[in-house]
Amino acid sequence: MPTHVPDRPAARNEPDRLHVVQYSGGIGSWATAQRVAATYGTDRMVLLFADVLTEDDDLYRWLDDTTAQLGVPLTRVCDGRTPWQLYRDIRYLGNSRLAPCSYHLKIIPCRRWLDAHADPATTTLYIGLDSSPRDRGRAPAITTGWAPWTVRYSLLDPPHLSKDEQLDWARSLGLRVPRLYDYSMPHNNCGGACVRAGKGHWARLLQVFPDRYAAAERAEAQLRAELGDVTILTEQRAGHRHRLTLTDLRHRVAAGGRP
Ligand code: SF4
Repeated sequence: MPTHVPDRPAARNEPDRLHVVQYSGGIGSWATAQRVAATYGTDRMVLLFADVLTEDDDLYRWLDDTTAQLGVPLTRVCDGRTPWQLYRDIRYLGNSRLAPCSYHLKIIPCRRWLDAHADPATTTLYIGLDSSPRDRGRAPAITTGWAPWTVRYSLLDPPHLSKDEQLDWARSLGLRVPRLYDYSMPHNNCGGACVRAGKGHWARLLQVFPDRYAAAERAEAQLRAELGDVTILTEQRAGHRHRLTLTDLRHRVAAGGRP
């Protein structure tokens, strides 16, 4: 454990400060919670989970195991709609450039909870961005978006941990990591069917969870019937951006082509 947490004295000079970890079920939020616990203890820790109702069953098992390991009960918020229900309501299909599901189903329910339970003057919010250049680049906008709450990114502190190192850390504590990582899925969100993911990720989902892919394909086709030529995926061909339906991607993979 000492190699996984920052080498600095525990900061316990604000005993009333609330430490709210955005607990998504991903390994990054788990590693963040471990670091927060190592620095501040768990007495004033909240593990805040926004349930979008399309998670892998094993994510809930992971939440049970890890909240028990930390000794902190899960705080669950939920809009009540799945991403697909939301897309229909707002008449917009989420995609890799814009995913309104994240805002409506995660950020808004979490903000409501913070409004009701967390004074910005005495609350720190923790988000599990990792130390990759991409995640580092996202931090300033995320910090601005969560104002007036203070936001910290514990995994941006050294020692920096890769995703594999975070997973090994969890295993070293006797935890069984979420199965989507064992299936080489990069994220443990929305059962692997995330509209932000790219072609390769969706091709992997088709291979690992064909039923889940088929459900997303049907939902996309239904939205296309209602909204017109919209798709989750796009791709660059001959210097131009083209829409790519999940049906077309499935046919391409079945024909032995590259995603
Ligand atoms: S994981 Fe992806 S599909 Fe699911 S709510 Fe977040 S952005 Fe939307």
